[in-house]
Formats: sequence, C-alpha cells, structure tokens
Amino acid sequence: MSVSHFPSRDPLALVPEDCARGHACQFCPEEEQCRLDKSQHEKRLIESRLADIGQIIMVMANKGGVGKSTVSANLAAGLAAQGYRVGVADADIHGPNQSRFFGFVGEHIRLSKQGLPAKDFNYAGLKYPVKVGSLAFMMERDDTPIVWRDAYKHDFMHHLIGSFDWGPLDFLVIDMPPGTGNELITLADMLEGHDVAALLVTTAQEVALMDSIKAVRFCQERGLPLIGVVENMAGVTCPHCEGQFHVFPRGHLAEALAAADVQSVAQIPLSLALSTASDCGVPVLLAAPQSLEAQAFAPMIKACREHAQAVFAEAAKQSLHNFTQAGLSESELEQALNQVPAEEQDALRQQLQDLLGISSPLAP
Ligand code: ADP
Repeated sequence: MSVSHFPSRDPLALVPEDCARGHACQFCPEEEQCRLDKSQHEKRLIESRLADIGQIIMVMANKGGVGKSTVSANLAAGLAAQGYRVGVADADIHGPNQSRFFGFVGEHIRLSKQGLPAKDFNYAGLKYPVKVGSLAFMMERDDTPIVWRDAYKHDFMHHLIGSFDWGPLDFLVIDMPPGTGNELITLADMLEGHDVAALLVTTAQEVALMDSIKAVRFCQERGLPLIGVVENMAGVTCPHCEGQFHVFPRGHLAEALAAADVQSVAQIPLSLALSTASDCGVPVLLAAPQSLEAQAFAPMIKACREHAQAVFAEAAKQSLHNFTQAGLSESELEQALNQVPAEEQDALRQQLQDLLGISSPLAP
C-alpha cells in the first residue's frame, strides 16, 4: 500500500554534533547556553522529517473562504480510508481550521524531545490514524486573532514541517494559506527536490477564477506539478423539490481551465451535510461515505493517488536503473528476489523486468 520513496529511518538519528532534539531551537529550554550550529540543526531536522514522507500535496486557493480547508480534510480522510498513512499540516496560519474539522477544538500539545506531537485522528475502519499538526494546538484560545510579522510566518512554516513529529507518511496534505505570498514561496523553497504537487481549490465566480489563474501561473513558473482544480460549491440541490441549480455559473471556469491546460478533478456541491460534518469534527467522507458529497470527492482522491503512484514508479525505475548502471548483475537481482516469499517472487520478477526494460527473463 505504501507509496513512500524511502526506507523508514529514525528522524532523530542526526549527525553526532547535533543535539538530536526533534524540535526547533526556539522551543528549546537550553537555547541560550547552546553553542551548537542552530541553522544546521533546523536544516537537518526538516530533511530528516521529509525523508520519511512520500508524496506531499499542497492544497492551494488564491482566495479565502472557497473551501480549501474542507477539501484538505476530505482529501486526507479519503486517502486514509484507502489504507494510506496520511498527515495534515495546517499551514493556514491566519485561520487554522483543521483542529475543528478533525474534532480537536480546544486541545493542546506538549513539546517532547521527539518534537511537537501531531494529534491522531482515529475513526472506525481506518488502518492508520490521520496525523494532524496545527498551530491551533499551541494557542491558548481558538478565537484569538493571529497577527504575524513575515519573519515569524517564515519560522512557523519551518516548525510545521520540521518540529512536528510526523513519523513515516505516504501522504502529507498541506492546507496552505490563501494566495501566492510569502508562506507559499517559503514552503515551495523548503520542499524543493521532494515529491510535491499542488491541488487548487476554487469556486466558479469570476473573481475567484481570476485569482485562481494566478495560482496556476505560480505553479507553472515554479515547475510545481498541478494535479488539477477542485471546483467547490458547484451546484446546490433544493431540499424541497430536489431540483439542482448553480450559485456561480460555470461557463467561464471551464473555458479558463481548458485554456490554462489544467484539468478539473472534482466538482463538490454546496451542501449542508458537508459543512455540518466539518463542524462536527468528522470529514463527510468518513461520516457519510455513501453520500453524494463523499462520492463527489472520489475523483479528486483518485487523481492524487494516481499522481503519487506515477511519481513512485518513475523514482523506482530510476533507482533500479542507477543500480544496474552501478554494475548490479541479474544474478544479484535474482539473489535479492529470493529474499521475498516464494508466492510473491513471480509477480515481483515480472515487475522488475518491466521496470528495467529487460527483454530476456530474469532466471526463474
Ligand atoms: P477556506 O479554507 O478556503 O478558507 P473553508 O474550507 O474553511 O474555506 O470553508 C469555509 C466555510 O465554508 C466553512 O464553514 C466550511 O464548512 C464551508 N464550506 C466549504 N465548502 C462547502 C461546501 N461545499 N458546502 C457547504 N459548506 C462548505
């Protein structure tokens, strides 16, 4: 089931001259006396966390209130429901909502040597809990306004990835702040070289659309793969007559997406069931998996899963190619194959042949 690219490793197994604490120096009681290299510590911390994370999906919107956090929560829930290890990093620093959407309102966390613990969201049928990391867990009150200077925003983006103890994950869903400002650039820089892709959430209104095209351009200019656009609040069903109508006409959105060469991966209706589930702390995808709302999310989840699998297959092919370039012979591959259970060997042999493009079969 795993789509992780890396063998699991201890995130705290840092080099000897590091303190091996799993959190940033700003949180450390010994910060003042400490003479170790602080910038190196932070760099290593982020790299060691990222080494255990497979696919990162940044959920973006160029406008607040279009449903980005709702989509992030349901994407994480949908991937977790398929058996993946999933985390949600709430980077929406001005309005962190993930604690509410996963039922952790008012809950706090305590720093440990391993870092800031992500909250485990458990639900019937999930193989692994969804790991939720949010600034909300560090605030006294949920309704406190947060005023940030740019330097602190920058620091928080580093803490979110480096100081939270994510553990091994197949997917990390990042609920981005709206816009293409500092936070996005900081994260995009930090994650460069890792498997990151974006998912863009928009409504069909003209004004949201114009802003979304800016976000599309940002991705294209940065070379950030854009899995597609999620159209939220796309249509309402009348609770009395069950007739359907659109609050925001779709015409221009479809044309603009086609012109920008971006696919629409889901159309999510405006729905009371959806917002109620979010407010009650269980994403609709888990609270009502058979509902129309949950089904509307299915193609988005499929698109994200397929993107990750394609990236994984390409990386596996590349690393096998590197192995063979380094002189790994077919007999050595065959020896490695003998390590797996007998009933899995034929399928794995076939996969290896396909990946390596070997026409002659590996010795059975
Ligand atoms: P954003 O992260 O873009 O600011 P949110 O996901 O927090 O937006 O959504 C804003 C509000 O709109 C929330 O109360 C959420 O429950 C509600 N909402 C979002 N999408 C829908 C939808 N499709 N149907 C009904 N309510 C929605």
